[in-house]
Parts: sequence; structure tokens; C-alpha cells
Amino acid sequence: MKISKIDHIGIAVNSIENGKEFWTDILGLDFTGDETVETQKVKTAFFPVGESEVELLESTVPDGPISKFIEKKGEGIHHIAFRVENIETALAELKQKGIRLIDETPRLGAGGAKIAFLHPKATSGVLVELCER
Ligand code: ZN
Repeated sequence: MKISKIDHIGIAVNSIENGKEFWTDILGLDFTGDETVETQKVKTAFFPVGESEVELLESTVPDGPISKFIEKKGEGIHHIAFRVENIETALAELKQKGIRLIDETPRLGAGGAKIAFLHPKATSGVLVELCER
């Protein structure tokens, strides 16, 4: 498996509209627009930072995964995403090494990326996303 960089850091927020001010007005990052990913019940907004990005995640439904996360832990860092060259190869390799996966096959994420999550039980509690663009 080849990881090329940290693609983005996902942050769960109650509201992108309210949450984005810190990243744009205070830190001066560009807001490149938001996108709703219906299959994941989430609205996302990306803020490029050099070679990586900050991704804000807002739930589109009261019982979505991001709502549940915020209910349990409050707003904050939700996941870290690594850019991989070939996500299928990476998943096969991890599976072979006995790593517990949330997604055995990639799904479609924001921006048309192929993404897959590893189980936090296998990663010292960090939700890790693999991402191929
Ligand atoms: Zn992500």
C-alpha cells in the first residue's frame, strides 16, 4: 500500500454555516463550497490547506452518523483521511493483515473520491479513512 499524504482531516460540526467562520474569517482559508453526500447523510465543506484539506461534516438528518458522533463526543475531530494510490489494493492488504474494516469495498465520497473507513478498534481509537482521487 502506498500512502501519499494526509488527504484531509474530518471535523464534525453542528452547522457548517456557523462553523466555517473560524476557518475562513479567522484562519484565512478558502472555502471551496459545500456538497451533500446523500448516501452518507452528510453535508461536507472543504478548506484547502497546502497539500491537505480540512473537511467540515454536518449531518443532514437527526439520526445520521455525524449526529450520533456529536451526541456522544461533541463537535470535534471525526476522522483522518490518507490518500492512497489504489484503494482496492490497500483494502485487500489491510484485510490480509487482519485489520478490521468498516468498508470492505470502497464507496463514493465527496468530490467523487473513492473512500473506505477502517474500524477504530484496529487503529487505537482513530477513525481512519482511505481516499483515492
Ligand atoms: Zn473524509
